[in-house]
Amino acid sequence: MHYNYLVVGSGLYGAVFAHEAKKAGKSVLVIDKRPNIAGNVYTKQVEGIHVHEYGAHIFHTNNKKVWKYITQFAEFNRFTNSPVANYKGELYSLPFNMYTFNKMWGVVTPQEAQAKIEEQKKDYIVKKQQERGLSQDAPFEAQNLEEQAISLIGTDIYEKLIKGYTEKQWGRPCTELPSFIIKRLPVRLTFDNNYFNALYQGIPIGGYTKMVANLLDGIEVRLNTDYLKDKKTWDALAERVIYTGPIDAYFDFKLGALEYRSVRFENELLDQPNFQGNAAVNYTDRETPWTRIIEHKWFEFGKDEEGRDLPKTVISREYSSEWKPGDEPYYPVNDQKNSALYQKYKELADQEKKVVFGGRLGEYRYYDMDMVIASALLGSEKELS
Ligand code: FAD
Ligand code: UDP
Repeated sequence: MHYNYLVVGSGLYGAVFAHEAKKAGKSVLVIDKRPNIAGNVYTKQVEGIHVHEYGAHIFHTNNKKVWKYITQFAEFNRFTNSPVANYKGELYSLPFNMYTFNKMWGVVTPQEAQAKIEEQKKDYIVKKQQERGLSQDAPFEAQNLEEQAISLIGTDIYEKLIKGYTEKQWGRPCTELPSFIIKRLPVRLTFDNNYFNALYQGIPIGGYTKMVANLLDGIEVRLNTDYLKDKKTWDALAERVIYTGPIDAYFDFKLGALEYRSVRFENELLDQPNFQGNAAVNYTDRETPWTRIIEHKWFEFGKDEEGRDLPKTVISREYSSEWKPGDEPYYPVNDQKNSALYQKYKELADQEKKVVFGGRLGEYRYYDMDMVIASALLGSEKELS
């Protein structure tokens, strides 16, 4: 045995685990099949801009321990996510707040906004209850995403800011989508454009790749190396294996493939300093084929590392796409069917005495970055104590 630990995957889970293992005096080898470290948080430098190659990543957390931990490896800037919605050329603030309501209805006070929302909700609920032969006072039970959204925020906002975006994102009509997707829709009667309700938020200065490189400092890393192509040889190298790739791929899909929701990005380098004036613009109409455009430089206020203005810009158009085996697995689909299949794989995984399955793909969970860091810290504590 050459190493105490073989870590498969240099994403956040793998990098945090590897760091903790090294700190505990263990010998560690990290391998990744990609040509770069950092997994999905990988950022690539283009014309001085850190381009989020696998989708826009905004760090946000309420977990103080995680924040204290990760800020050892990067300083974070003061970026606050405030996406803009573009509906056929009309621009609205997100998440839904007083700026949105003022633009939509001309209302000025929170009371006026509340009254407008109530009026729209009420008309809709009365109509629906009538259709169902229920009294107006009976509790309204939303049966799909459309009903859930309108009963929370009314018809105008639903039609202009929710319907088209959601249908593009999920590839299905809102009447066929479950209501829970939109349960957490923030509605604010204040002038607050901050998308996340998090205590801590920001983008690592110098890029996510540098932050992960700092975690992996002094640790041997081999890239372009697929563990599953030569599993036996790799297993023979280490006493224990931390596997952060897809759990179904580990077992050669023998129980069937888990499903994912996928996204396709079209990147463009533009010879102009400012394309849309914001990091994220959501296209909420049904006709525009992309869901949103990210302009990466605005995650860092349009400046390079020396604080100089950048003359060019990189944009990414984001398209939702139907996932098929072989595509990049982005978002786990935690519906009943896939969760049940995952449970079966989990039972197999529990029998692999030498291997720990971790991270978004290893545990088939929609983890945000802070959750993956918390999970890796917990996993390493258990493993290394
Ligand atoms: P990954 O980053 O996927 O790392 C797994 C690594 O394992 C990869 O590098 C892969 O190449 C490697 N690997 C897999 N199989 C093998 C193999 N056989 N051999 C060798 N290597 C292998 N979170 C937020 O907090 N904020 C956001 O704004 C946000 N935006 C997101 C946007 C998108 C489009 C996506 C998909 C996710 C987003 N996330 C966001 C979630 C975030 O990306 C994850 O929480 C985090 O990256 C998960 O880290 P991980 O280490 O579990 O997985
Ligand atoms: N959503 C919407 N309009 C928007 C942004 C979000 O209707 O402009 C809805 C949509 O149903 C989406 C959900 O809110 O699926 C969550 O969106 P978000 O972009 O926050 O989540 P992510 O896809 O990044 O997890």
